[in-house]
Amino acid sequence: MSLRPKIYKESLSSSKNMIISFHNHSLYSDGKNSIEEIVLMAEKLKVDALGISDHFCLTKKDKFYRWAMLRKHLDAYIQEILAFKDHINPKVYLGLEADYVEGMEGDLAKIVNSKPFDFLIGSVHLVDDVDIADKVEFNAIKYTNDQKEIGIKKYWDSVRKMAESKVFNIVGHIDLYKKFGLYPDEDISKEIDLALQAILKANMAIEVNTSGYFAGCKEQYPSEAILKKIKEYNIPIIVNADSHDAEHLCRGYETVYPLLKKLGFSKQVYFIKRKMVVTDL
Ligand SMILES: [Zn+2]
Ligand SMILES: [Zn+2]
Repeated sequence: MSLRPKIYKESLSSSKNMIISFHNHSLYSDGKNSIEEIVLMAEKLKVDALGISDHFCLTKKDKFYRWAMLRKHLDAYIQEILAFKDHINPKVYLGLEADYVEGMEGDLAKIVNSKPFDFLIGSVHLVDDVDIADKVEFNAIKYTNDQKEIGIKKYWDSVRKMAESKVFNIVGHIDLYKKFGLYPDEDISKEIDLALQAILKANMAIEVNTSGYFAGCKEQYPSEAILKKIKEYNIPIIVNADSHDAEHLCRGYETVYPLLKKLGFSKQVYFIKRKMVVTDL
């Protein structure tokens, strides 16, 4: 089987543009490959900027989620990634996908600000302690219509509060609730606008996450409608695959790049030592 993506760098955009893949999971959380395996695969796939971003989740009751890294493994994780700091193709960047949990942002900031992270992806997976990205937990809830509307609004409020916390650099999979088919019937444009305004103010980027193509929603996160708003607000974007398998480091890129071009995006960003770097898309 070919290890290369269906489409090469030359046809993803133009040959001079970077391939960035910053949202990837290793054995430290719920990915299936070691960090070394991911780096080697990124080299084969001609990724220029590779970020590793395993799950890190601090909750009030110190609940452990099987998909998250053990807190005691954080330093080993960092050392293992830093061992690739002189790697050229790809350059390797140290990140985390950290959950936004209201009330825990101070503790999280204390931990991450004392470490040499290049970037922090902030994700909301938990709405009222329900993991909406987990099929079993999600299906067990059986939302009524009212609960669904409230849950989606709460989700967007959490995204806004996450941006206001100023702890994170990138918003992960911004309309994740659609993963298993949750869609609002009510107008939630106010909640979305408030979240996007907070993201803009916090100098964050929003990821365009291609893993949605392979989930129940069958489209990238965020939807085309939200992408249009992001373009209007001029919020920076980064394309990510959210891989849990090294072979998926650029999965869906061949679909998302033409969409982004069609919507008028011409720049993408990544982060070095928590500072945004802008490059052509
Ligand atoms: Zn996630
Ligand atoms: Zn992820």
